[in-house]
Amino acid sequence: MPLYRCANCGNEAEHPTPKCVPCGLDPKNEPRAVQMFTELVTIHFDPPHAVVTGWGVGHAACDTAKKVGRVQDRFTGEREVVNCAACKASEAFAGAAAKAPRPHESIDKVGKAEPGQALKKPT
Ligand SMILES: [Zn+2]
Ligand SMILES: [Zn+2]
Repeated sequence: MPLYRCANCGNEAEHPTPKCVPCGLDPKNEPRAVQMFTELVTIHFDPPHAVVTGWGVGHAACDTAKKVGRVQDRFTGEREVVNCAACKASEAFAGAAAKAPRPHESIDKVGKAEPGQALKKPT
């Protein structure tokens, strides 16, 4: 089922046709409201591999039949960008929060430069 984002309230939800339950926008009642919806590509969670750092297991957390490489889906190990509600509700998604460091953690440790000053060395 397609995933739609409502530009009026920001809600993202799966519906057969564009509509938004939280704010009530529905192009069936008001045809011009269709411009308020963007169909999103579903991004599934590929849980981390048990042995190899940086690898996923190769399938969606919500459905093992959805293998990485399917053209109609996208996959990531980065939890922040997952937009599949079923993946977000999975045990693997919750479990990965505790284990995996954020992918850009090393970048966060780099010192921050003030305008006109040299970049401070990380400590
Ligand atoms: Zn809305
Ligand atoms: Zn999923």
